[in-house]
Amino acid sequence: ESLDKGLEKTKTNFLSKLSKAVVGKSKVDDDVLDNLEEVLVSSDVGVNTTLKIIDRIEARVSKDKYLGVQELNVILREEIAGLLSETNTGNETEFSVSLSRKPYVIMVVGVNGVGKTTTIGKLAYQFKKQGLKVVLGAADTFRAAAIDQLQVWADRVDVPIVKQNMGSDPASVAFDTLSSAVKQDADVVIIDTAGRLHNKVNLMNELTKVKRVMQKVVEGTPDEVLLVLDGSTGQNAFEQAKQFTKATEVTSLAVTKLDGTAKGGVVIGISDQFQIPVKYIGVGEGIEDLQVFNKLEFVDSFFS
Ligand code: GDP
Repeated sequence: ESLDKGLEKTKTNFLSKLSKAVVGKSKVDDDVLDNLEEVLVSSDVGVNTTLKIIDRIEARVSKDKYLGVQELNVILREEIAGLLSETNTGNETEFSVSLSRKPYVIMVVGVNGVGKTTTIGKLAYQFKKQGLKVVLGAADTFRAAAIDQLQVWADRVDVPIVKQNMGSDPASVAFDTLSSAVKQDADVVIIDTAGRLHNKVNLMNELTKVKRVMQKVVEGTPDEVLLVLDGSTGQNAFEQAKQFTKATEVTSLAVTKLDGTAKGGVVIGISDQFQIPVKYIGVGEGIEDLQVFNKLEFVDSFFS
């Protein structure tokens, strides 16, 4: 139900386009497939993923000879679900904090404004609710506002934060955060980082340095590199995923702002195109508005 709340606009928009795509048609033919292609592309599923879906439906049309348009919803749902099942990114995707080695370190990356700080706050809240001891690190030292915003979330969730002045070395903040977390015997560390995409080499160097320095405190960290993408930007989110996965090893994705956008189809494209699991989706500005993403439930919610 809460998923429906988050996807309302995407779903309404998609289903209304889909019904227009079959007006005056009784069976799925080339015209219907062309229209369907347009519907998927304009719903931000992405061209590559759209073509894969259309191929699968074409294959069914040629096998079944006659497919009525009333069946299109069912077929589409099956084929999208089938496509996503083939990606090897699992389905039960919540972070499972391993307490055998503390602390579990999550480094969060993404462009400014995508909802990075908010996602960190929501995650911290979820971990705290599970009884875990969380420490935040304000390693986005490029903007004073980023540090202030993270502080606001730290206060709201009531977890400690490690920070330095604006302009200080992000790696130094990360080092301090991990040291402090070890001292406090914390379970989870969430590190915010600056996301300046305009210079890929700088970004790569900075993230690499942050990682290297963290490894001096806790071997093998970070456990997760979470890339946050703004779903309401549609194809831009795609582009950012491409850029960031080139700059650093991203292990998981969070797609935010799916409430209030009709571009939620982008999550289907992202799930298909990147062999990186979408683990969380943001469906509002509130502390509870972060959901564990389940790709098959997500597809189902489009059609139910
Ligand atoms: P950052 O610059 O990436 O750290 O972005 P922020 O976390 O400061 O978020 C930017 C804006 O997006 C804020 O106004 C947030 O409240 C808003 N925001 C973040 N996540 C969501 C979401 O899932 N849904 C909605 N509607 N707004 C969100």
